[in-house]
Amino acid sequence: MDKNLDILKEDLGELRVYENENLAKHTYFKIGGPAKYFFEAKTQEDLQLALTTASNNKIPFILFGSGANVLVSDKGFAGLVIKNRSEGIKLVGVKGTIGKIGRGIKHALVWTTAGTLMNQLARFTINQGLSGLEFLLSVPGTVGAGIKINSHYEVEKEEFIGNCLSTAALFDPKNGQIKNVDRNYFEFGYDNSKIQETGEIVLEAVFKLDSQEDKGKLWQKAMEDVKRRNTEQPVGIACSGCIFRNINSQDAVRLATPNLTTSTGYIIEALGLKGQKIGGAQISDKHANYILNIANAKAQDVRELIKLIKVKAKNTFGLDLTEEIFYIGDFKNEA
Ligand SMILES: Cc1cc2nc3c(=O)[nH]c(=O)nc-3n(C[C@H](O)[C@H](O)[C@H](O)COP(=O)(O)OP(=O)(O)OC[C@H]3O[C@@H](n4cnc5c(N)ncnc54)[C@H](O)[C@@H]3O)c2cc1C
Repeated sequence: MDKNLDILKEDLGELRVYENENLAKHTYFKIGGPAKYFFEAKTQEDLQLALTTASNNKIPFILFGSGANVLVSDKGFAGLVIKNRSEGIKLVGVKGTIGKIGRGIKHALVWTTAGTLMNQLARFTINQGLSGLEFLLSVPGTVGAGIKINSHYEVEKEEFIGNCLSTAALFDPKNGQIKNVDRNYFEFGYDNSKIQETGEIVLEAVFKLDSQEDKGKLWQKAMEDVKRRNTEQPVGIACSGCIFRNINSQDAVRLATPNLTTSTGYIIEALGLKGQKIGGAQISDKHANYILNIANAKAQDVRELIKLIKVKAKNTFGLDLTEEIFYIGDFKNEA
């Protein structure tokens, strides 16, 4: 008899809670063992019910967006995985005077659920002639996870999702409460936000965006970014984007990285590790901060490559690299 399974089935629906769901199917890496319990939240009500049920009954849980920034253990996850498929975007407010074709509007507020794809949000806002999030076109993942990592493109141009955030609703798994917070609450930084520490979950968000009369220009800029990404990053191979965060410029100077670079990809390349393979995993020879699943890789293979890179970076440059990806599940007794 499994008490937690009974609770989940009773609250979330007998046929909607799966057992031993293969998580490799739900990650961009195509890696990972099974989830003990698995539930797909298709609406905001589903999402809140699943979060409340798990937290009230102390059932360990984790939220999945698109699985584009996670490495799941080969042993899987011994609790409930909630996959957030609750999508929705709408324009909720404008500031300025509405003219015939919207001229005079200075800013607009766009509401979105956390499960909305960032790519969808970019398309919606560009089509509305609103600027600020066009760099998210073709970036994989959901808005909620994007806020957690403060998704970005050109950091030097301050292209961060957090810059346009106005407010958000958060679920706190520690007490089951929902609260509304503004942008300052997140203390956004590069690849960072406060909810990485608190474990709070984004339910929905409102972005404040500037109006741009020529939406053709927004599309042009977004498409240029997409083209650039496709030339610089591996395309069409299972991976989880960049594995490590870039380093800051003070560390680059202090540790005298090659050409004082802050780019971890460049550093891994300088370590001579491009193309290195362990098991079915390989460090990309196009962009060395990407690890690819080229032949049914295990999480263990990826972990060993990560360890190799970290040890070599430490021994060569005295550098402590930090992962950008999030680990899910039990990695004890692994690399
Ligand atoms: C090919 C490729 C290219 C990429 N390019 C970029 C890029 O250009 N710029 C960039 O910034 N990133 C990039 N990434 C990384 C990825 O797009 C982002 O990290 C994105 O935020 C992941 O979203 P997700 O929904 O897939 O998150 P997941 O992988 O599902 O989850 C990541 C973490 O967020 C947590 N989480 C999920 N939903 C929520 C929520 N609602 N509230 C709180 N926490 C939540 C999860 O529990 C987990 O800890 C790339 C990834 C890939 C695979």
